[in-house]
Amino acid sequence: MLPGDGIGPEVIAESVKLLDAIAAQTDLEFNYTEALAGGAAIDKAGDPMPQKTLELCKSSDAVLLAAVGGPKWDDLTGAMRPESGLLKIRKELGVFANLRPVSVSPSLAESSPLRPSEVIGIDLLTVRELTGGIYFGQPVGNDGNEAFNTMRYSVGEIERVSRVAFDKARKRRNKVTSVDKANVLEVSRLWRDTVKRLHATEFPDVELGHMYIDNAAMQMVIRPRQFDVILTENLFGDILSDVSATLGGSLGLLPSASIGGRVGLFEPVHGSAPDIAGQGKANPTAMILSAAMMLEELGEAHAAAAVRHGVASAMGGNSRTGDLWHEGYRRVSTSEMGALIREETLNHLHPKGLKQEPAITGV
Ligand code: NAD
Repeated sequence: MLPGDGIGPEVIAESVKLLDAIAAQTDLEFNYTEALAGGAAIDKAGDPMPQKTLELCKSSDAVLLAAVGGPKWDDLTGAMRPESGLLKIRKELGVFANLRPVSVSPSLAESSPLRPSEVIGIDLLTVRELTGGIYFGQPVGNDGNEAFNTMRYSVGEIERVSRVAFDKARKRRNKVTSVDKANVLEVSRLWRDTVKRLHATEFPDVELGHMYIDNAAMQMVIRPRQFDVILTENLFGDILSDVSATLGGSLGLLPSASIGGRVGLFEPVHGSAPDIAGQGKANPTAMILSAAMMLEELGEAHAAAAVRHGVASAMGGNSRTGDLWHEGYRRVSTSEMGALIREETLNHLHPKGLKQEPAITGV
């Protein structure tokens, strides 16, 4: 458990309470160890991702990370930045596939910046390559007059993340849209050729389409419901998944999972929200849904579904944290929202097992 900075400790506490409540009603058991990450780690250990934290993470079954960073550390540069700690842990854990689901239920559609009629029923998953591409490619340089980065992918890197996307699609609506810039970039041409070849040899049953990144960004806004699984490289995925993040109306709703190594990393999409930190205003949903993704990846699909159902039921009521609040709703705190989700989740848990797969999944 890496609570990190800002609202991190507040939202991770609600996930732990939920997991403990699930454990009390089932035969699941969770053992947590807390470690330093981000600004808190810079202050106490002089490093945003201390070796001790990395070793602990590598010897765990999963890592729950809340958020890192904040104004106090904004002026630091290079490896001392809290965000560089994030790149380090992703690389060290070998989590090459970042999964970001977004779905919009009728009860939340009014919070979307798009027309409710366009967003109800959105249910998409972005699979972003996370440990390669331009964020990691060598060489890099900046002599003050000219600067460059290198976008670089091998067939092996493309294949392994593509397999994750095709596998996930098979469990969803069986459709993958691979996003690239193959009309301009060499890397993208290799990307597209590799995805096509893998599809033909291993996943011919999955529907596959290709889209240029510029078109994909536009389609995400004008016809988001067309997407099931989006497969894309690191930089395009970073941008596109943030666009998709706006569809549901609040960053406070969006979970993510980074997988591919032995140990997965589960974290909300949002940052440390310094503007509301320490005030009990944060929405714990994104962190809680990240814990649900952890349960799913650990093979506890029924518990994961119960959490998603708990969130959907809680969101269907008239309580909202500040980020989603508007006239007619009751404004609740982080811990009140956590308690509501817990109560709804437990309603769908059966002692030592679960009643049935809930009909509603996600929010
Ligand atoms: P942010 O996601 O922290 O906040 C953006 C806006 O969304 C703010 O108004 C915030 O109050 C709101 N918000 C975010 N999460 C919320 C939640 N759970 N409930 C209610 N409202 C929520 O992004 P930012 O302001 O650009 O960045 C703040 C700090 O977080 C920076 O230091 C940044 O570097 C860091 N950051 C960290 C991560 C990470 O840890 N993965 C990701 C993004 C930003």
